[in-house]
Amino acid sequence: MAANAQSSTSSKKLQKMTPQLASPTILGIMLLILGNYYSGLTYTNDPRLVFGLVGVLAVLGASHFIAKLKFGSAHAPYLIIYHLLLSFLLIAVVPTLSFYLYIWVLLLYLTDYYYGLKGAIVSSSALLLVMLGGTYYQQGGLSSKNLVNISAQFIIILFVIKLMSSLSTANRHKRSETITKVARAEGEHDRLVALINSMSDAVIATDDQGVIVTYNAAALDILDTNETLTGKKIVDYLKVVSAEDKKQNIFDIAKKTDSIQRRSDLRIAYGKDDSLALDITISRVAKSTVLDRREGYTFLLRDITLQKTLDDEKDLFIHEVSHELRNPITVAEGEMSMAIMLAEKPQLDFEQIKQTVDRGHKQVVFLGEMINDLSALSRATHDKQTMKVEQFSIKEVLEGLEADYKAQAKKKGLYLKLELAPSVPEVTSSKLYLKEILENFITNAIKYTKKGGVTIKGQAIDKDHIMLGVSDTGIGIAKAELDKVYRKFWRSEDPSTREVSGTGLGLYVTKHLADNIGAEIKVESELKQGSTFSIIMSTKGKDQPISRSPIRKFFKFGGK
Ligand code: ADP
Repeated sequence: MAANAQSSTSSKKLQKMTPQLASPTILGIMLLILGNYYSGLTYTNDPRLVFGLVGVLAVLGASHFIAKLKFGSAHAPYLIIYHLLLSFLLIAVVPTLSFYLYIWVLLLYLTDYYYGLKGAIVSSSALLLVMLGGTYYQQGGLSSKNLVNISAQFIIILFVIKLMSSLSTANRHKRSETITKVARAEGEHDRLVALINSMSDAVIATDDQGVIVTYNAAALDILDTNETLTGKKIVDYLKVVSAEDKKQNIFDIAKKTDSIQRRSDLRIAYGKDDSLALDITISRVAKSTVLDRREGYTFLLRDITLQKTLDDEKDLFIHEVSHELRNPITVAEGEMSMAIMLAEKPQLDFEQIKQTVDRGHKQVVFLGEMINDLSALSRATHDKQTMKVEQFSIKEVLEGLEADYKAQAKKKGLYLKLELAPSVPEVTSSKLYLKEILENFITNAIKYTKKGGVTIKGQAIDKDHIMLGVSDTGIGIAKAELDKVYRKFWRSEDPSTREVSGTGLGLYVTKHLADNIGAEIKVESELKQGSTFSIIMSTKGKDQPISRSPIRKFFKFGGK
C-alpha cells in the first residue's frame, strides 16, 4: 500500500551552452571559407591549406555527434583546438584584419562563459597576438596605419565581448536564482509530502469535480482499500452516513464549504453493521490564476470512534452518578426541613427531632461514602502509572487486616479469623491496591453477615500464584445475580441487602484495582449460606499470566 502524495523531482538540469551549438556556426564558416576561396578573396591560393582547414573543421563539427570523438563536458580541449584553428585561419588562410576576426568574438564569449575572466584574458591576448602576428606575416611588417587599424578592431571586439558577457552574466544570475528557488520549493514540497504521508489522519485532496488528486497512506486505511485513488471520485470511496443513518453525499457537503467546514456527526459505513465515527475537516482550495491552480477541496479525516464511545460512557456515568446522588440528597433535605419544622413547634418533641436528624445524618454519611468510593474509582482508573510496585509479605498484610477489622466484627457480634497456609510466599505487586481490594471484601463480609463471622484466607496455589479470600456466613447472593456484582451502582434487590447502606461501587472499584495489578477476582455464593470473594494473583508481578488450570476449591462457605 503506497501513499500517493507525490514527490516531484522535476529536471534540475541547467540548460548549458554546449559545443553542439557551435556545429552550425562551423558549417557556416566552412562554406564562407570555400566561397571566399572560389571568389579569390582568401589570402592564400594554396588549395591544400584551404581544403585541409575545411576538412579539419568538418571533422570537428561532426565530432559533437560522434560519441567516441566527444570530449564530454571538458570544454578546454575544444576551446584550445578552435583557438588554434582560428589563429591558423587568420594568419595563413584569410586576410588577418577581415571580418573573420569576429569569429573570435564567439570564442572569447565561450571562453569567458566557461572559464571566467582568466579565460577571457588568455583568449583576448591570443587574439591580439594573432592580429599583430598575422598582419606582420601577411603585410611583411607592421605600419602605423596597421597598428591603428589593429587597435581599433581589437577595442571594438573587446567592447562587443564585454556587452555580450554582461548580458549573459545577468541571465546566468537570474537562472541560478530561479534554480535555487525551484530547488527550495521542491525541498519544501517533498518535506510536506513526507509530513502528509506520516500523518495518522487521512488526507484526501480533490479537484472541483470531486476527483481525487492526492491522498496519503492513512486515507487508504480509513477508506479500507488498496486501490489507487488518483482519478477516482471521492463519493465512490468516502461513503458517509448521518447520525440518523441516512446516506450523505460527501461532495455535496464539501460544495457548501466557504473556507473550512468541520463535521463530527458523520460516520463512514463499510458494510451493514460496520462503521467508524469520523471527524471531518473540509477546506476549500480557492482557484488561483497566478499559481495555475484549480479550485478543489481537501478532506482531513480522523477516526473518533473510540473517543465517541468514551464520551458516551462518560455521559452515562455522570447521568448514573447524579441519579444515585439525587435520592440521598432529597431525603436528607426532607429530613432537615422536617427537623426545622418540628423545632419551630411550640411543643418540642425532642425524641422525634432526634430521629429525624438521625435519618438525615445517615443520608449525609451515605453521601460521604459515595464520595469516597468515587474518588477510589477515580484513583483506580487514572493512577495506573503511579502505582507503586514492591515486594512484601502476604502474612503481614493479612495479619494487619485481621487486627484492623477485629473490633468492627466484634461490635456486630461476629468472629473474624485468619487462616494462613504456612508456605505463602512474598509477592511483588501494589501492596496498597491489594489491601484496598481485601478491605472491600472484608467490609462487605461484615456488612452482609448477621450471624457467624468472617474468615480471611491465604494460600499458594502453585509455585508462582497465590489465592487470597474472604468468606462469610452472611446473607449470600442469588446465583442469578452473581455476574452482576461488579457492575457500577449495582446492589442486590434482596431486602436484607437494602437494610444496609451501600453505594454499589465497592466491587466495581475492586475489579478495576484487580485489573491494574493483573489479578483475577472470583465470587462464590449461596443465598443464606454465605459468600466467598477471592483474588488470584501472580507472586512475581503483573505480567505473569495467571494459571488457567482449575483452581482447587478450598473456600467453603462459613469459613469453618
Ligand atoms: P455496596 O456494598 O456499597 O452496596 P459493593 O459494590 O461492594 O457495593 O457490592 C455490590 C453488591 O454486591 C452489594 O450491594 C450486595 O448486594 C452484594 N454483595 C457484595 N458483597 C457481599 C457479601 N459479602 N455478601 C452478600 N452480598 C454481597
